[in-house]
Amino acid sequence: MTEFAKPYLQLGLIGYPVKHSLSPRIHQAALESLGVEGRYHLYPVPPLPEGKSDLEALLEQLRQGVIDGLNVTIPHKQSVLPYLDELTEDAGAIGAVNTLYEKRGRLIGDNTDAAGFWADLQLRLGRWKGERRALVLGAGGAARAVVYALLQYGWHVAVTARRREQSLSLVENFRRLSGKLPDRAAGGESDAPCLEVIPFTEQGISDFLAHTPASRRVLIVNATPVGMEPDFDDNPLPASLPLPEGAFVYDLIYRPAETALLRSALAQGLPACNGLGMLVEQAALAFERWTGEPAPRRAMYAAVQSYQIEDINSDQDKVYSRDRCNPPRD
Ligand code: NAP
Repeated sequence: MTEFAKPYLQLGLIGYPVKHSLSPRIHQAALESLGVEGRYHLYPVPPLPEGKSDLEALLEQLRQGVIDGLNVTIPHKQSVLPYLDELTEDAGAIGAVNTLYEKRGRLIGDNTDAAGFWADLQLRLGRWKGERRALVLGAGGAARAVVYALLQYGWHVAVTARRREQSLSLVENFRRLSGKLPDRAAGGESDAPCLEVIPFTEQGISDFLAHTPASRRVLIVNATPVGMEPDFDDNPLPASLPLPEGAFVYDLIYRPAETALLRSALAQGLPACNGLGMLVEQAALAFERWTGEPAPRRAMYAAVQSYQIEDINSDQDKVYSRDRCNPPRD
């Protein structure tokens, strides 16, 4: 049983739509596991300007301590920024928030997607020794978090999106920050991070992948919604494009558990995972911001584990077995 200053915690998610979110299950499991009274609410707030007064009312409740912590999702990850007093370093660099809390009367905006992605990636990669080369599909909010995480650890990142100007704007954002990005690689061993835009065409992607010989490895991250239910058969990569032998595929989508992209990776015997681990990890980090307590990751993960792929390459290497995919720490 964990003692908190407040006997009942009010947490929640602002977004639109929110009714299918897994966040209530994850956070409710965390509260129960710690024996804390509280509730994680869903707050459907339409896009601005329609949802302006609802959004303002919720933020005021957060400032007054009526609400103890909020998550923010589409379409408010950026529209909420003008209402905040302060952004954390990660949220400022990414230019979007997913976690809000109050500190000494000030509203703080944080972004735990980048750290959540990185923490889960470490778990999935295990002994996968790659070249620290990544191809990121998409250039929206999630792609920004992924790119930010990878750059901090010295990865070479190629971004591709159907609107070239969006990829260019992402790259420009991080180039501007270049030199100010935290260098989090162990022992300061990171190479100078490298960021490029490649055309969102079969030729462009295939040229990039062709520069990854069989002996080398490349991480492919899907940060587009292509393949989300109900479009189970849509693949963000051209179907005719074979994945390189040394690829590791990370799809940020977790519903369905196995997207067409993941199916093609698994069919080729490649290591692959969906975004459920990132979802749990970003939630755990948000929970820690709100409570100051270590999040009960096992309980949080168990609450949604049925959305995980059952057999991530378990026959290839124990590293990718189901047990390995359970967060090992609480
Ligand atoms: P977003 O800001 O709307 O960005 C989506 C990106 O995908 C944009 O570049 C968009 O281009 C592109 N895109 C959309 N439809 C496409 C299509 N049919 N073909 C090619 N590109 C397309 O969304 P987001 O917040 O980054 O989320 C992206 C995905 O990541 C979603 O599936 C979301 O559920 C997932 N996600 C997962 C986690 C997790 O914890 N696992 C966290 C965050 C997000 P346009 O701007 O041209 O549409």
